[in-house]
Amino acid sequence: MSVPALRQPKTINKVENKKPTPSQKPCVVPDTKDFLIITLKGGRKLVVSSDAYHGILTAGELYKCVFCEKEMVLDLLCKERHKTSQNHRKILENHPHVEDYKENLIRKLTSASHYCTICNVVVSSQYLFKHLETESHIKELQQACLRAESYKPNALQAEAFPPLPKK
Ligand SMILES: [Zn+2]
Ligand SMILES: [Zn+2]
Repeated sequence: MSVPALRQPKTINKVENKKPTPSQKPCVVPDTKDFLIITLKGGRKLVVSSDAYHGILTAGELYKCVFCEKEMVLDLLCKERHKTSQNHRKILENHPHVEDYKENLIRKLTSASHYCTICNVVVSSQYLFKHLETESHIKELQQACLRAESYKPNALQAEAFPPLPKK
């Protein structure tokens, strides 16, 4: 009778291929500057992305400003320039966050549509209440609150409900 040879546990010396770590990764992480702290009445804070605050959507190959109804090429500089433009600022001021919706940061676009800053989406007015109850909206809102807690403020401050200009 032959004794079966002891099975040796195979020890594989894995030669780890050390991939050269790329020294310059393309920067895909949004810079902290791309967030805005919004202080609500009562002092509660939310942090939303600058694009969300400004109503900039990414639609395929284009950026679209929902307030100015302007489309731009997918170019960061172009987008930033739009956000700081007088025209956009004025239009944004004319679409303040509706106070009734408080921290949900809803701006009215037209009688038929509203804009949810929290989710960065346009919602038909008919479904606005439903939208506010959706899981995704609630989650986004929680995220915005959490971000405010952990946020190191070199962010720009923005007022959620700036006083309306006196006529
Ligand atoms: Zn605009
Ligand atoms: Zn929402």
